[in-house]
Amino acid sequence: MSKVVKFGGSSLASAEQFKKVGDIVRADESRRYVVPSAPGKRFKDDTKVTDMLYACYDLAGSDRDFKKALAEIADRFQEIIDGLKLKLSLNDEFKTIEKNFKEKAGRDYAASRGEYLNGIIMAAYLGYEFIDAATVIFFDADGSFDAERTDQVLSEKLSHCERAVVPGFYGSMPDGAVKTFSRGGSDITGSIVAKAAQADVYENWTDVSGILIADPGIIDNPRGIEIITYRELRELAYMGFNVLHEDAIFPVRQRGIPINIRNTNAPGDNGTWIVGSTCQKSKYVITGIAGKRGFCAINIEKDMMNAEIGFGRKVLQAFEEYGISFEHVPSGIDTMTVFVHQDEFMHKEQKVVAGLHRLAHPDSIEIESDLALIAVVGRGMKSTRGTAGRIFSALAHANVNVKMIDQGSSELNIIIGVADDDFETAIKAIYDIFVITRL
Ligand code: ASP
Repeated sequence: MSKVVKFGGSSLASAEQFKKVGDIVRADESRRYVVPSAPGKRFKDDTKVTDMLYACYDLAGSDRDFKKALAEIADRFQEIIDGLKLKLSLNDEFKTIEKNFKEKAGRDYAASRGEYLNGIIMAAYLGYEFIDAATVIFFDADGSFDAERTDQVLSEKLSHCERAVVPGFYGSMPDGAVKTFSRGGSDITGSIVAKAAQADVYENWTDVSGILIADPGIIDNPRGIEIITYRELRELAYMGFNVLHEDAIFPVRQRGIPINIRNTNAPGDNGTWIVGSTCQKSKYVITGIAGKRGFCAINIEKDMMNAEIGFGRKVLQAFEEYGISFEHVPSGIDTMTVFVHQDEFMHKEQKVVAGLHRLAHPDSIEIESDLALIAVVGRGMKSTRGTAGRIFSALAHANVNVKMIDQGSSELNIIIGVADDDFETAIKAIYDIFVITRL
């Protein structure tokens, strides 16, 4: 049995947190591969080391004095080393970093040092081997992740290594330069390591006891999700759930390795299991509710649209020509609506409209702004009658006008468009009907 355990920044922000992590790793022999983030916030208004590194490098990049900023970063690590009573010095590492900053090694290199140094500390603390992620995680020359080469090299490396620490967030390009994933990318590293190690479980340790059914910023104390499928999580992540980096699902999904989200500060909690498939029904018909604001709907009307072959393609081509991705395209007999992100669309609005006229010759085009989309997701919907009916009656009772409805044929989710002002009321009404009153 082997487990890959990834710890987020808040789990590694101080020596005290490191000790909790040490206890967790030592409590289970099978926790063989550890993926650390950089130290995160120790308290609410604290700064993450990754952000300190970006700021420090920006000084270096514009030839300003960055010594003080770098010394502050060194202090953060020293505090951890001292708190753990380790005989470890990062002085040489910081000398190298200073030299590389002067030589403009790049923002990605700079940001990656948080994980790199935390990995060195973690390896020393646990007595595990340290594997620099730059030697086992690879990107192509165009910056995209090279899954094949990584899997080959990393699995070979891990097969000779009983226990190791692999820092999260970065890897290297063909020319050896360090490259990072997008922010929060240590989650992806954890998943890549789990895949290469053929692990039984990928444990992702953070500061919450799993994934919540809805945003706690909107719902007071929402209940947690015990078990969720990769596909359900994908839908929810796309709509704003941000417990896990949305790309972290793919590597483990290929090998069917479950992800267990756990809380470093409450290690006794079961957390949330993210799995390929399950016979376990979710407790509440729906698994989760997520939503995003800031959408715009472009309503395109044309008589006899239904008979015109290629009309949809021409409409979408107008968006494609200006590099705008569409989110949803509900259509009627003579109308088609395209939902796009308002901030992306705003600046190109008139060009797209002109493109629509040129390509599709519609009778009219109307634009509606300030809309929100809400996704109600649940594998349980497939086998339960009346889910849509309950959603819409809840919304009607809450006085929310539904502007768009989209249910995929997978019956995994129902997407609802509402006015931005109704966003929170709508989420509360849906949560209420399915989770609180369980009608
Ligand atoms: N330290 C990086 C960040 O703050 C990556 C991570 O924590 O996953 O985004």
